Amino acid sequence: MDMKRATFKGGAHLRYNKELTSGLPIIKSTPPKEVIFPVSMHLGAPSKPIVAVGEQVKLGQKIAEPGGFVSVPIHSSVSGEVVAIEPRIHPNGQRVLSIVIKNDEQETMDESIRPRENYKDLSGKEILHLIQDAGIVGMGGATFPTHVKLSIPEGKKVEYLILNVAECEAYLTNDDALMQRNAEEIIRGLEIVMHVLGVDKAYIGIEDNKPQAIQTMYESAKHLNIEMYSLKTKYPQGSEKHIIKAIAKREVPSGKLPIDVGCVVFNVATIKAIHDAVICGMPLIERVVTITGCGITEPRRMDVKIGTPIEHLLEQCGGFHDAEKFIIGGPMMGFAHYSSDIPVLKGGSGILLLSAEEADLAPPKDCIRCARCVDACPMGLMPLMLSNTSEKGDFDKAEEYHALDCIECGACAYVCPAKRMLVSNIRVAKKEILVKRKQQAEKKEAEKVKGGNN
Ligand code: SF4
Ligand code: SF4
Repeated sequence: MDMKRATFKGGAHLRYNKELTSGLPIIKSTPPKEVIFPVSMHLGAPSKPIVAVGEQVKLGQKIAEPGGFVSVPIHSSVSGEVVAIEPRIHPNGQRVLSIVIKNDEQETMDESIRPRENYKDLSGKEILHLIQDAGIVGMGGATFPTHVKLSIPEGKKVEYLILNVAECEAYLTNDDALMQRNAEEIIRGLEIVMHVLGVDKAYIGIEDNKPQAIQTMYESAKHLNIEMYSLKTKYPQGSEKHIIKAIAKREVPSGKLPIDVGCVVFNVATIKAIHDAVICGMPLIERVVTITGCGITEPRRMDVKIGTPIEHLLEQCGGFHDAEKFIIGGPMMGFAHYSSDIPVLKGGSGILLLSAEEADLAPPKDCIRCARCVDACPMGLMPLMLSNTSEKGDFDKAEEYHALDCIECGACAYVCPAKRMLVSNIRVAKKEILVKRKQQAEKKEAEKVKGGNN
């Protein structure tokens, strides 16, 4: 097999713990009694409900319209009755307007779902419309609407279409499982994206700890003009900026997007969702989730209907024991929670229940100025200085240290022997800098209007 090797500077070698689920098949979750769809499960404007309480809906039926161009619709993952439209707890910790549907377990399919054999007679614009209409967003966790990413601005050109199958977060194995089970659909999805973007070549980057997936993808992609890269297993290899650096050898400048350096990057589950939408006519209503950690009785990889309460999944894993930390997403970039009464969303790749030993809950100590955080930072930042300036409330200084370039990967905190709260402090600084920028922009706008009125 002809494969190139690639990596990036910095980063961390994690305790991956993928073996808890990596040999397991993907099993189908049992039907949940109720599904919950927050109107905000993507980046951009929230969706607008188009159903009413008491209405019967079908599986795959659209239940909320996009709230703008940077937004997507939501479709029901079950057939049943809308029993509430009310604020419910979102995985982001806030109460968000949500559509709640009682599952009648009949799986009555909406008439709009029809397979399509040939997509090549459709224009790129028509396919983009299908992709938005299917509610597809980045399923690696970013949840950015896919049709927007595929809408290449005037004057920009795609030179590197990259399929990101690094799955560099510890514990998660859902992308690995998807590649082994659905390689053909993924490659067909990639062909659709090549057609939309008008490119004749694509690049696939897979971390070298997934030999079986590498083999399967290679076999399925043989007929295409594809360059495959075996990426060194290192965190955060799957970050867009770092996979671009490793494969295209290009640097995405501060404040710029991948397309500014001729690159677009897609997660493997998103590409599979594009296949399902364009070929099968099926909107995004299901995803693979890794449910794992030493606090879970029986770790699993499952096909899960979007909107399924996490509690329902934990029951199917035999419940939990001695769990000290509950995380949605991966251990590095996920968010800790206290209640499992929240739904699986489009970007929800993992559910972790970690034991005390895995969670490493030791309290922070004084910094010993060892500079390990600096060596680990894949963005070339000084996490220690960013964190210190944030703690002192000196956000102007944090901005000078390029706080906004931090991708919140957590590599610095992971290697820190003093267990400093580096990422949470940097997050505070980023938030404050953005608030200040917004206020300055509003002030400038108000002065402009005032000037115009004189
Ligand atoms: S790794 Fe931790 S202890 Fe070492 S310099 Fe950075 S913040 Fe300080
Ligand atoms: S400073 Fe930000 S980008 Fe650098 S290692 Fe820490 S979290 Fe990652």
